[in-house]
Amino acid sequence: MPLIVHKYGGTSMGSPERIRNVAKRVAKWARAGHQMVVVPSAMSGETNRLLALAKELAPSRTSPAYNRELDMLAATGEQASSALLAIALQAEGMESVSYAGWQVPIRTDSSYTKARIESIDDQRVRADLNAGKVVIVTGFQGIDEQGHITTLGRGGSDTSAVAVAAAMKADECLIYTDVDGVYTTDPRVAPAARRLTTVSFEEMLEMASLGSKVLQIRSVEFAGKYKVPMRVLSSFTPWDIDIHEEAKSGTLITFEEDEKMEQAVVSGIAFNRDEAKISVLGVPDTPGIAYRILGPVADANIEVDVIIQNLSKDGKTDFSFTVHRNDHARTIELLKDKVLPALGAQEVVGDAKICKVSIVGIGMRSHVGVASTMFRTLSEEGINIQMISTSEIKTSVVIDEKYLELAVRALHTAFDLDKPAE
Ligand code: ADP
Ligand code: ASP
Ligand code: MG
Repeated sequence: MPLIVHKYGGTSMGSPERIRNVAKRVAKWARAGHQMVVVPSAMSGETNRLLALAKELAPSRTSPAYNRELDMLAATGEQASSALLAIALQAEGMESVSYAGWQVPIRTDSSYTKARIESIDDQRVRADLNAGKVVIVTGFQGIDEQGHITTLGRGGSDTSAVAVAAAMKADECLIYTDVDGVYTTDPRVAPAARRLTTVSFEEMLEMASLGSKVLQIRSVEFAGKYKVPMRVLSSFTPWDIDIHEEAKSGTLITFEEDEKMEQAVVSGIAFNRDEAKISVLGVPDTPGIAYRILGPVADANIEVDVIIQNLSKDGKTDFSFTVHRNDHARTIELLKDKVLPALGAQEVVGDAKICKVSIVGIGMRSHVGVASTMFRTLSEEGINIQMISTSEIKTSVVIDEKYLELAVRALHTAFDLDKPAE
């Protein structure tokens, strides 16, 4: 009997009515002869609500002890929706049981709020499947070696689902969400965005890492590592649509080498509002500058993304880089305390009102002039580029966040993504 993993996001689980719909859909798949494992997210808004409560009590705390409690707290959202889904399935006449991460167990490292899955024991789940039950595995959470509850980072239920599918060698992992697939860009920002029927694993990985929140990047990494067949599709179709039609809908992530997303040079546009820029001004332009600035940043476990060093003038230069917005204040503080005095630099300035916009496409490997089309398009819109970063299949620019929508829409048109695929 084929084994299928379904994952339902927060909006799909957003009300008792929607949970009932999910249960009906899952029951349809089970009755059609599939073993079913279902991974639900917390009901929409619940994780934000819980984390906001913690913030109210301790506005600017960060420590391992605090993060441990955040995970205790946030994990309850998924636990509730898992039990509700099992109840709804039972009401549909299906035998069903839900398990929290620790009951499976899903083992992770101890990086609270962004833990990584290390292993999944599939025995318990498999025994229930063989006994004819639909098994609900709670998303977003796991347990570390010391028995502490961990969570996998925002959007982490995607990763739970793909990891469970990999561990159980499932025939397919279906990610049900509030859009009907992966689009050329976020349809909320560019209404002209189009659904892709397939997207290559490499492009999906790049888009997720550059900010497309439709899939958490680690879920794509898992899918690539274990070759998990994976599809993104809508949970808002009628639950009783023909199962064969449903199984072919949405966007399939493909693994074939050289398979291009619908033969476009640029296949998608991603953006990220979560970064902030930091500039160290008036740095003496001597060897070792990058190391002396970024070494302490790395030691503080702060991830750096785009980096730029200006030409020097009178032996001095400016050095800028981006970090996650959550790390912005901490990085400035660290540089002021530890780096500025030792370097003899003049000033550290931060800018949180930036965003990163990226074009992605395997076709960029074999085409020249793609980046220059991007720069021309932005200049025609009067958008100043503050930083640039490129790799084989992407070009990213850092711009003022007020131009985000304008930039995404203009690039979407410039790279012919508005037109239906031939
Ligand atoms: P879920 O709760 O189901 O996990 P998410 O909100 O995490 O849903 O992801 C779905 C959302 O991702 C969509 O509503 C859409 O706004 C956004 N999104 C961003 N980039 C894309 C893209 N390229 N294609 C489709 N959706 C995208
Ligand atoms: N509930 C978690 C979040 O909001 C995980 C998820 O939805 O995937 O980030
Ligand atoms: Mg999500």
